[in-house]
Amino acid sequence: MSDCLFCKIASKAIPAEVVYEDDEVFAFLDINPVNPGHVLVMPKKHYEDFMDMPEEVCLPLVRMIKRVMSVQIDGLGYEGVNLFQNNKPAAGQVIPHLHFHVIPRKTSDGYVHWHGHEYGNGEAAIMGAKIRESLKNL
Ligand code: AMP
Ligand code: ZN
Repeated sequence: MSDCLFCKIASKAIPAEVVYEDDEVFAFLDINPVNPGHVLVMPKKHYEDFMDMPEEVCLPLVRMIKRVMSVQIDGLGYEGVNLFQNNKPAAGQVIPHLHFHVIPRKTSDGYVHWHGHEYGNGEAAIMGAKIRESLKNL
C-alpha cells in the first residue's frame, strides 16, 4: 500500500528504530512508547487488521513477539509484558497496517487496566448462546 505509513517504514522510505527484520517480519520501536522498549511487531506485507491476515502469517509473528518479550524481561529488566493488538478505529487502531504492541511493564509504572462491568442477570447465558450459534457458521 503506497500511502501506508508502516509499509513505508518496512521499505525504509521512512526511518524507524528497527530492532529486527527478515523477509516476513518487521519489528521497531514505537515512536511514542508506553514504556521505553515498547516494540511494534508486524508483517512486512500489508494486511489491514488481524482478520485480514492469512493464518500462516501468524506463526513467524508469534515467534518474534515471544523473543521480544524475553528480551524485555530478561534483557531490559522489566517484570511483565502486555501484548495489544487493535482492530479498526473503534478499538483504537490508528495505523491500518496490522501490528502488535509488545509493551514492557513494571509493577511500579502506575498503569491500570480498563475496568470490566458485570453481566446482568441471565445476560451472560444469552451472549454465550449468541456467540456459540454464530461460531457454527464460521
Ligand atoms: P495503533 O493505535 O494500534 O494503530 O498504534 C499505532 C502506534 O504507532 C502508536 O502507538 C504510535 O505511537 C505508533 N507510531 C505512529 N507513527 C510511528 C512512527 N513513525 N514510528 C514508530 N511508531 C509510530
Ligand atoms: Zn501497510
